[in-house]
Amino acid sequence: MTEELFREDAGLFSCTATVLAQHAAGLVLDRTVFYPQGGGQAGDAGTLLAAGGAQLVIGDTRKHPDEPGLIVHVPAAGEDAAAFGPGTVVQASVDVPRRQAHRRFHTATHLLCALLPFAVDGCSITASYARLDFHTSEPLDKAALNAGLARLVAEAHPVRHRWISEQELDANPQLVRSMSVQPPRGLGRVRVMEIEGVDLQPCGGTHVANTAEVGGVWVTKIEKKSAMTRRVVLGFTQTLAGSV
Ligand SMILES: [Zn+2]
Repeated sequence: MTEELFREDAGLFSCTATVLAQHAAGLVLDRTVFYPQGGGQAGDAGTLLAAGGAQLVIGDTRKHPDEPGLIVHVPAAGEDAAAFGPGTVVQASVDVPRRQAHRRFHTATHLLCALLPFAVDGCSITASYARLDFHTSEPLDKAALNAGLARLVAEAHPVRHRWISEQELDANPQLVRSMSVQPPRGLGRVRVMEIEGVDLQPCGGTHVANTAEVGGVWVTKIEKKSAMTRRVVLGFTQTLAGSV
């Protein structure tokens, strides 16, 4: 198993870790701050620094294709992982601006869920944009959504996660907002993200700690993808220090 430090603290950007194995696609560590692509959110990038001084640039992070619970750190194109064999102790550090963009956009997508009472049937969160597909035929009002987002950011609601049992989730099916991304099962517990007084839903992603940290995010586009799908695209209105 790779210990998933990012699940408990999305603001932790670096940790020490030990290389467990080299997989064809990349390196497996015993613990990591790198979020693997999933739940609509892109994987982290960053660097691994070996005690001897060798550095490896990581371009992406994925779940191990065959072994659940292992996280693969994928070297960027042209990188040589030869010095990072099993047992190598590394300082693993995420690309902070990319992580911060993911955190801000991910929390913003949950704010959108609170503003629009429709099921979600698609989601993509990257460092430069986020989009959510809502299952509805109703036209959406861009100006009203932007006013709603700005209000929820200004209200500075705390954002936190907690773990609930699968039985508790089954007893509250309304918690599951997304039609395409179901929470992972079989672990006995499910992580839920709460935006205090605003939104609660199962989610494994990395979020800001308060809606105020979402900052300048707005709806750049609303598209009619199909008769029953309205796509909402988010962008940054401002680049905060250390972001994008
Ligand atoms: Zn989420």
